[in-house]
Amino acid sequence: MAELLEIIELGDPILRQTAQAIENIQDDRIQTLIDNLLATVKQANGVGIAAPQVAESYQLMIIASRPNLRYPTAPSMEPTPMINPRILSHSTETVKGWEGCLSIPGIRGNVPRYQAIEVEFLDRFGKSQKMEMTDFVTRIFQHESDHFHGIVFVDRVESPADLITEKEYQKILTK
Ligand code: ZN
Repeated sequence: MAELLEIIELGDPILRQTAQAIENIQDDRIQTLIDNLLATVKQANGVGIAAPQVAESYQLMIIASRPNLRYPTAPSMEPTPMINPRILSHSTETVKGWEGCLSIPGIRGNVPRYQAIEVEFLDRFGKSQKMEMTDFVTRIFQHESDHFHGIVFVDRVESPADLITEKEYQKILTK
């Protein structure tokens, strides 16, 4: 049975560290971490999570876009673990959109991100995969990638005025 992991929050120094690449994907510890992250992101109504958020400083993320209480308009996709991912190419166009973070509860930011990217990553079996992404899923990928470099979304806003509370965000959603 997968275990729900504690999500660390802004102020924990692990969130500001650079995460290590994973060398032995088949290691039981890594496979268990993947299962636990899948369970944790689902339970937390997240659309993505990066291993550093559970105090495991590895380049492992789950992208799990689906409509939920925190992101009612998110597209649905199969939750996908991505190991040692990198961006191969990206659009010149960036778009601003609202983000939150399970490690920064209560705050939302209007963050500019590339509109489209092509990425390469290893799946949980160690197989190399390429994926093209656009819009919201691209946003999740870039947000989670930032966690590997000690960057969080509040660092990415163009102006402090682009940070608002969850309560005010809910008002925007229902407009
Ligand atoms: Zn985050």
